[in-house]
Amino acid sequence: MRPITNRLLGRWSLWMSLLFLLVCMVGILIWLAGRYEVSQVQTQVAQDASDAVADIRIGLTRNVQNLQALQFTGPASVAWEQEAGILLREHREWLRLEWRDTRMQLQSEVDSPFRNPVFRHMGTSFQMPEVVQACSVAQRQSGPGYSTSTYVPQANGQGLEVMNLCLPVLNNGELIGFTVATYALQEILANFINTNLLRNQEISFTEADGTRLAMHGAVERSERTFSAKQLLTLPGNTMVLRLDSWRVPPNLFPNILTALVTLMAFALAGVMGLLARDMRRRQRVEVDLAEALAFRKAMEDSLVTGLRARDGQGRITYVNPAFCEMLGFTAKELLGHGIPAPYWPPEMVDEYGKRQALRLAGNAPPREGVESVFMRKNGDRFAVLIFEAPLINAKGQQAGWMSAVLDISEQRRIEELSRASQERLQATARLATVGEMASLLSHELNQPLAAIASYATGSVNLLHGTTLADPQLISSLQEAMQRIGQQAERAGKVIKSVHDFVRRRDQSRVDVSPRTLLDNVMPLVALQARKLGVRVELRCATDLPHVMCDRTMVEQVLLNLSRNAMQAMQDESPHKLLTLWVRLGAPTNGQQWLEFVVSDQGHGIAEELAEKLFTPFFTTKEEGMGLGLSLCRTVVEQHGGVLQHRPNQPRGTVFSFTLPQA
Ligand code: ADP
Repeated sequence: MRPITNRLLGRWSLWMSLLFLLVCMVGILIWLAGRYEVSQVQTQVAQDASDAVADIRIGLTRNVQNLQALQFTGPASVAWEQEAGILLREHREWLRLEWRDTRMQLQSEVDSPFRNPVFRHMGTSFQMPEVVQACSVAQRQSGPGYSTSTYVPQANGQGLEVMNLCLPVLNNGELIGFTVATYALQEILANFINTNLLRNQEISFTEADGTRLAMHGAVERSERTFSAKQLLTLPGNTMVLRLDSWRVPPNLFPNILTALVTLMAFALAGVMGLLARDMRRRQRVEVDLAEALAFRKAMEDSLVTGLRARDGQGRITYVNPAFCEMLGFTAKELLGHGIPAPYWPPEMVDEYGKRQALRLAGNAPPREGVESVFMRKNGDRFAVLIFEAPLINAKGQQAGWMSAVLDISEQRRIEELSRASQERLQATARLATVGEMASLLSHELNQPLAAIASYATGSVNLLHGTTLADPQLISSLQEAMQRIGQQAERAGKVIKSVHDFVRRRDQSRVDVSPRTLLDNVMPLVALQARKLGVRVELRCATDLPHVMCDRTMVEQVLLNLSRNAMQAMQDESPHKLLTLWVRLGAPTNGQQWLEFVVSDQGHGIAEELAEKLFTPFFTTKEEGMGLGLSLCRTVVEQHGGVLQHRPNQPRGTVFSFTLPQA
């Protein structure tokens, strides 16, 4: 159990680390995707900022050109003021245009028509230093010069940041004055920058420390702000342009890429879940399989039947412990071994080889098994019973043969023993019969011997004092001699029949007519019948088929049954009739049977005795051995027949047995 727990633990830790890695990977991917999106937006904002700077620069340059055009109208004239008025209407970014002489004295001025003059409240003098600074730059560079920005407070409490542009006015290469334009920084942002840029963005001019000077945009605000700064370098002034962009609040899935990655991660997690479920099922199956295997192993190990599997080429692929034990080989010695197998007795190799070839050709063996002889490792031969069945693999194809092998040597030994003891028993029973007959014999022999003696005495008397010429005498003597011969022959026959019965032991089954069997036992039956005063009747048609049997044994059965029948009638029976009868029996499975019937009119068999009749040594007679009927049944059953008995009518018993037709 311990290794399984360890394996499970190992597998779980693997799964946990896989899950951990997956979560990490998904987290990093989402983070990276977010980062990527941020950097994209940041780049876009930086790009927008630099576009804005470019827009401002273009606007400023165009304005410088417009101012230069104004200079052609000549300074400080009504025409200038008109021109300047037109320009101011076209350019909202300008708050005011001035014309100053070389000493910076104001010659002409025009304010923007769009708002109240900005300097009405403060005058322009407070920003003179900046104007002077711009103009000195302009003079130095013979081009536009810009001042730093200044804050101009307004009457309504608010204020605005302004910046001055100074453009030198030359006449024939000689400086005659300056055109000064005052820019509102906020208007620069509003008018110069492409409106598309300002969607969702706020643009502003800031100082180096971040203080906002002017701004534009700022539609909405949110937590996520992207900022980009760009320097706007002008002659005489450098400003910082800052672009702030607001995006929607940060999402879990900021964009398609992240969403895709997340989706894939979920799919991955789903697949992992399915895999885990599959794994769990496999684990369950694994455990079941392990249990089934353990069960199978325990079963195989406890079996006393030898098991052996062979592949299509006859090589041994599996043996169980019982098979190895039976043969004395180890499994290692047997596995992989082909033909001839190490347990084939060398003298049988040819025959077994043929049988094996038949089997490999696909011929199925008989279901009841095949008897064979195997050889143990020590060379001992022993009988086995082999049951073989095709070995079908998981694909349903035959991969070889599976055999169950039974060691039947012990069974054979017991059978042999019982056969021997049976034979001894039979011999004993026969001798007992002979013993019984001895008295009958002496009685039977007495008659012919007495007759012989009296004929001999008579003959001697006849010979006394007579001549041999008397023809009467000669014929009498001849007759007496013939009688003596007949009687001697009769006595000889009686002795021979007993001798035959005792001596003859021919075990083989022979084809014999039922009549012959009856005739053979008749002299012995007649012996007893005469003594007991029993009449014997034989009924046997001449055209009955022959039977196949062990003659001696069947005769013994007939004799035993006849003897029992006559003994049953011995006492008070009014009619002492013994009938020996042979007739055709009912056929079974195509086999024809002959029925031998022995009936008497004796005292019959009481019901309580009926079941004990065939038990060896059961007898009701004083001098009986109780072996007769048990022997009879054994003999009949050995021939495949049955021995039965039933009451006779009006009294007595009928014993009958069947024998197969030859
Ligand atoms: P045994 O003749 O030595 O007694 P058996 O085995 O031949 O032994 O018979 C067993 C018993 O069966 C007999 O003792 C007898 O009681 C009974 N038996 C056998 N045959 C007959 C028969 N024809 N009629 C009545 N009883 C019988």
